[in-house]
Amino acid sequence: MRVLGIETSCDETGVAVYDTAAGLRAHALHSQVALHAEYGGVVPELASRDHVRRLLPLVRQVLAEAGLRPADLDGVAYTAGPGLVGALMVGAAAGRALAWALDVPAVAVHHMEGHLLAPMLEDPALKPPFVALLVSGGHTQLVQVRAVGDYELLGETLDDAAGEAFDKTAKLMGLPYPGGPELARLAERGRPGRFRFARPMTDRPGLDFSFSGLKTQVLLAWQGSDQSGQTRADLARGFEEAVVDTLAIKCARALDRTGADTLVVAGGVGANRRLREKLQALAAERGARVRFPRPAFCTDNGAMIAFAGALRLQAGQREPAAVTVTPRWDMASLPAV
Ligand code: ATP
Ligand code: MG
Ligand code: FE
Repeated sequence: MRVLGIETSCDETGVAVYDTAAGLRAHALHSQVALHAEYGGVVPELASRDHVRRLLPLVRQVLAEAGLRPADLDGVAYTAGPGLVGALMVGAAAGRALAWALDVPAVAVHHMEGHLLAPMLEDPALKPPFVALLVSGGHTQLVQVRAVGDYELLGETLDDAAGEAFDKTAKLMGLPYPGGPELARLAERGRPGRFRFARPMTDRPGLDFSFSGLKTQVLLAWQGSDQSGQTRADLARGFEEAVVDTLAIKCARALDRTGADTLVVAGGVGANRRLREKLQALAAERGARVRFPRPAFCTDNGAMIAFAGALRLQAGQREPAAVTVTPRWDMASLPAV
């Protein structure tokens, strides 16, 4: 079964074709970073309009790269939430219409399930049960995955998401938008130990997170400093270590609580080198294993949507011929596959 995947929940237009027999056939992404840079954040209406401009050319490009005609598709999957309502509507309307025109089934994909299943796209031998750490721009969650579609939320952030904390901390030290990856690059040059920040909520039991206080700690340290390039790098290092340690401590707890021997990590912060190393070490110590998608499939992409959609289409899930999106969507409400 060849499935076209469409991702337009935020500021990247992602398209891919996943073939249940042959794997990923082609994928392409258009990032709107340059479009939103002058505003310092995503402008929803500009995002929707750019998806309109980019989506069909990307679909054509991906089909050409896969050597397929539209009629070779057996289904269409599109992100239906959570995300920006206008941006979601573009992908949902185009995906649903394409499926109708081709007379193939369409399926609405939950964006976070897409992230969560990306490690399985990369490693076909990987199967639930496992614990998933979802660390992205809008979410920080630990999820117990019993089966595809059977998700129990173990813990989540009470305020900022980990990626949001990276972005906001970068911004307050004057780094250009989007700051998260830039802050991580800067941290590579930072000296360990000069700044030590709290590991929020690790001194009490539980699997929830809180990252907004860390940002304030960095702000105070930054304001009281010489604001030199080296100080900025040292602060970035201290901040990154605090976030990574905190995530690792909670992952270990989640593995203890569930008895799982596999941790999967997904979402944009999963691209972070120090987080990947730390979780590898943690898994090795415990005789557990950890799996990450390649960095490009940690952040938003069409491949994860094509893959998640293919699993759901194979299980018989179908969308009616109406275009609906769900900007706020609880993953625990999804049907089992
Ligand atoms: P959500 O998936 O929750 O709706 P999103 O789609 O905006 O949010 P992603 O695309 O998964 O989030 O990830 C983007 C986030 O990942 C940004 O906050 C960005 O700062 C962060 N990020 C990307 N690369 C890195 C990195 N190397 N280190 C730390 N953070 C990173
Ligand atoms: Mg993005
Ligand atoms: Fe995302």
